[in-house]
Amino acid sequence: MAGSHPTYLWWNGRQMPWEEATVHVTDLAWSTVGAVFEGIRGYWNEDSQELYVFRLREHMDRLIDSMKLVRLPAEYSVDELIDASLTLLRDNDAREDTYIRPLAYSAGSSGKRLSDTAASLGMLINTNPMPSQLDSGRAFKVKVSSWTRISDTVMPPRIKNISNYRNGQLASMEAQADGYDGALLLSPQGKVSEAPGACVMMVRKGQLITPPTTDGILESITRDAVMTMARESLGLPVVERSIDRTELYLADEVFLCGTAFEITPVVEIDRYTVGSGEIGEATGRLQRLYEDVLRGKEERYASWRTPVGVAATVAAG
Ligand SMILES: *Cc1c(COP(=O)(O)O)cnc(C)c1O
Repeated sequence: MAGSHPTYLWWNGRQMPWEEATVHVTDLAWSTVGAVFEGIRGYWNEDSQELYVFRLREHMDRLIDSMKLVRLPAEYSVDELIDASLTLLRDNDAREDTYIRPLAYSAGSSGKRLSDTAASLGMLINTNPMPSQLDSGRAFKVKVSSWTRISDTVMPPRIKNISNYRNGQLASMEAQADGYDGALLLSPQGKVSEAPGACVMMVRKGQLITPPTTDGILESITRDAVMTMARESLGLPVVERSIDRTELYLADEVFLCGTAFEITPVVEIDRYTVGSGEIGEATGRLQRLYEDVLRGKEERYASWRTPVGVAATVAAG
């Protein structure tokens, strides 16, 4: 192998031959600059013995958008990625709530300059169990971070670009060190943007209000689902507009939403009690409806679910 790389490198405390220093492919995500990913969830329905993936096509569409923005070539179609994910879930016999994470990264980047790494695509889809927290009763006490959210003049906030995540991670670590469950980030203009990994919604004076996608937020699929359910099923007027920090303190209800956070109530912000300090009425109703939609216990919004066919696999096998 002489010529293409040095003989040795140093890794985790010892020097070793270059070829022996391998990592498992699932370790790649957090070390690869320029990777983009998706976070998708499947929810198990015990009665029908079926796993339902939530808004699979929309997630894969967004992955293609993410790849475009970081100039990775789209070598797989959305349909191929959907098929690959469903086959993987069936073959992994995923009979529980499951997280599905596709990742697109710059392959063969070893020794190259950062500016030269985008052209060659590597792609990974992996799954792991992730139970729902929707009926756990958990509620967050958060602080407004001293970090501001990245803006579109710095990096593209609207996509799941790995390098974006140091921003939210710093805010989360700061919040935890200060004794809070999580953080909220303001935009550089001082408007409420989002939480690390989740969008923010507030209920105030009978409206559901959430920042627009131009305030540095990720283009969240859960946010879209929550707005739709609030409007159609709860009859709540939904308004997308910039939100001031002090409006949050006066809100009746505040919650976070996203694939990872599902619908997570926020009961305290900067030591101001939100509403009654308990999980709000609209928040609770949305949590219950959302869970029924996710698990296929609700007829409405059936088009958001893709049944994996785990049940069929068993029947056939
Ligand atoms: C994934 C993510 C969200 C939520 O998006 P969903 O499509 O609802 O999962 C919000 N903010 C950030 C930074 C995210 O990475």
